[in-house]
Amino acid sequence: MRYKPISYCFEGRSESDKEDINIRGWVYRLRTQKDNIFLTLRDSTGIIQCILPRNEENEKITIESSVELSGKVVSDSRSPGGYELHDVSMNIVGLADDYPIRKDFSTEFLNDVRHLWNRSRKMQNIYKVRHELLKSAREWFDKSGWYEVSPPILNKSACESGSTLFEVDYFKDKAFLSQSAQLYLEAMIYTLEDVWSLTPSFRAEKSKTPRHLAEYWHLEGEKAWTNFDEILEIEEQLISYIANNIAEKRSEELKALGRNPEDLKKIIIPFDRIPYADVIKFLQKKGKNIKFGDDLGADEERLLTIDRDKPVFIYGCPKNIKPFYTKIDPKDEKMVLSADMIAPNGFGEISTGGQREENLETIVNRIKEEGFSPDDYSWYLDLRKYGSVPHSGFGFGVERLLRWICNVEHIRDTIPFPRTMKRYYP
Ligand code: ATP
Ligand code: MN
Repeated sequence: MRYKPISYCFEGRSESDKEDINIRGWVYRLRTQKDNIFLTLRDSTGIIQCILPRNEENEKITIESSVELSGKVVSDSRSPGGYELHDVSMNIVGLADDYPIRKDFSTEFLNDVRHLWNRSRKMQNIYKVRHELLKSAREWFDKSGWYEVSPPILNKSACESGSTLFEVDYFKDKAFLSQSAQLYLEAMIYTLEDVWSLTPSFRAEKSKTPRHLAEYWHLEGEKAWTNFDEILEIEEQLISYIANNIAEKRSEELKALGRNPEDLKKIIIPFDRIPYADVIKFLQKKGKNIKFGDDLGADEERLLTIDRDKPVFIYGCPKNIKPFYTKIDPKDEKMVLSADMIAPNGFGEISTGGQREENLETIVNRIKEEGFSPDDYSWYLDLRKYGSVPHSGFGFGVERLLRWICNVEHIRDTIPFPRTMKRYYP
């Protein structure tokens, strides 16, 4: 028997043809009337209403059972997609137990049964956009001549703040789960020049926010012979490409998620660049209790971008709020050449990027200032000793991007099995 995807029922069909076809999938909705059972079937491509005669065998059917159906595709203007399946015969493949999600829709419960909730239309749409995002990113890097590399996840030393490290036992020694691939990407530019990676990053974030996961996917790039201004241009080109591409390829999914695809078509270069000092002044004017030298929180980032429809860069930050590898601004030694990209409509930080420090002595001092030991970084410091070049890079949180693009409230809804401080099951 040959089976067609449900989407096939809607494609290039005239009202008069009544093709006999076989489809298969899962029972999404059920309604029983006097003579008929109205069954909505779903598969990875869509849903369709199917009409079955009511009889003892067919009446056994339950929500989320897997079935094979044979019938006639018939045009019906009252049906959601314009077509239905009539005169259906059914083979039940896996009869489902009473499906729990019909009874309880609390967030807590849906997180408990995430393995089942992932079947919902909402999650299916998000995962399709996620797929498109990863594909678009890979496409952009590939077209632009960057090499994809595979950095390690188990490491001896930290990349970001020590307070968010996950420690693991490493053959009776200590290792840490990677917080970022950056240091390893920096090493790889001496071989391949323009490199990128997509890896899980781990942060033991002890706060509960709608934008922090303990395990997230990190899209990072590092480029040799590249200065601060050039890397910001690359970041905005990448994001514009991804947003425009998703708008074009996944407009139906976006609409279903409550994001107008037109919003994403407007994400075109250049993005605004605002100096950190101006951001602080702007926030003070808005009544925020913030001073020069403070890091921006979610509220501050929201205030800054709530009325914007494109991402914006905040650049030129004081060095105390940025990691040791960021390059000191040659014009002002209290500042670093680092920039955060902040998503529009209040969604907050989606990337940090910038130029990397090349001076060996400066970097050693800053490693010490952060409370790390330069000995743990001797391999990294070698990169400054053997043919150092100006270079820059960036890191995007894939789930942060999706939260903005899919217009979802909580970051956990952008990844199939989210890991947070409270949850690593299922
Ligand atoms: P934030 O200040 O928002 O907590 P950060 O400045 O600590 O983030 P970076 O070290 O700059 O994060 O990491 C690079 C990117 O990775 C961030 O811009 C963000 O998109 C993403 N990211 C960082 N931490 C998380 C997290 N816990 N969950 C999901 N994404 C994250
Ligand atoms: Mn950051």
